[in-house]
Amino acid sequence: MHTKVCPSCRHIHSRLGPWCSRCGRAVSNTGHAKGRLIRKGTLRPHRKFTSGLLAQHREHRSVKAAVSWCGKLLASAREDDVSRELRRLRDQGVSPIEVLETIGAVYALAHFDPHSLPDDQRFTFNVANAVFRLRPSYSRDTSINGDRGYRYERQKTTMKRDLGMTIRSTLGVFFRQLIERYEADQENERQLLSDLRAPLQPTSKDTA
Ligand SMILES: [Zn+2]
Repeated sequence: MHTKVCPSCRHIHSRLGPWCSRCGRAVSNTGHAKGRLIRKGTLRPHRKFTSGLLAQHREHRSVKAAVSWCGKLLASAREDDVSRELRRLRDQGVSPIEVLETIGAVYALAHFDPHSLPDDQRFTFNVANAVFRLRPSYSRDTSINGDRGYRYERQKTTMKRDLGMTIRSTLGVFFRQLIERYEADQENERQLLSDLRAPLQPTSKDTA
C-alpha cells in the first residue's frame, strides 16, 4: 500500500490527501492541522467581559447596528445550509445579543490570549463554531447503543468557513474598536491613579 508522511505531524499514513487522520480531522474542524475547537468553558469569562462592554456602550449606534446585524443573520430567508442553521438557532430561542456576545467572546479570547487562538483560519472556523453550537442540533437518526439519542451534528467545513468569513468581514472592525476603547479607558484610569499619587513639588514661594 502506498504510504506518505503527514506534513503536519510527520506520521506515516496511507490515507487519501496529505493529512493523517488526526490532522485531517483538525483541518475539517478548524481549518488548520494544528487547530483545536475552543470549548464553551474557555469562552465563558471572555463572554462575561464582552457582555459588560456591550452593555456599557449599548446606546452607541455601532452597538445598535451590530445587534441589528445579528438579528438579520438569525432571520435570513436564504435557502443555504448556513441560513438554515441560523434559523434553527433562532427557533431554539437564541437572541441577537446572545450571538453578538458569543462572537465578541471569541474576539476577546483571540486578543487577550492569541496563543490559544491565532488570527488565521482557526479564528474563522472557531467564531462560526461558537455560534453554531449555541444550541445543540438534534440528529434524529443517531443511535447510541440502540437507543435514540441526540448529539451535536457536525456542521460542514464549508459552512464554518462561510459563516466565519461573513462575521469577520462585518464585525471585525467593530470588535477591534470596542476592545481598543476598553484598553484606552483602562490606560486613562491608570494614568489618573498615578497622577493622584504624584508627589507635590515645592512651589517657588516655599523655596524662596
Ligand atoms: Zn498528522
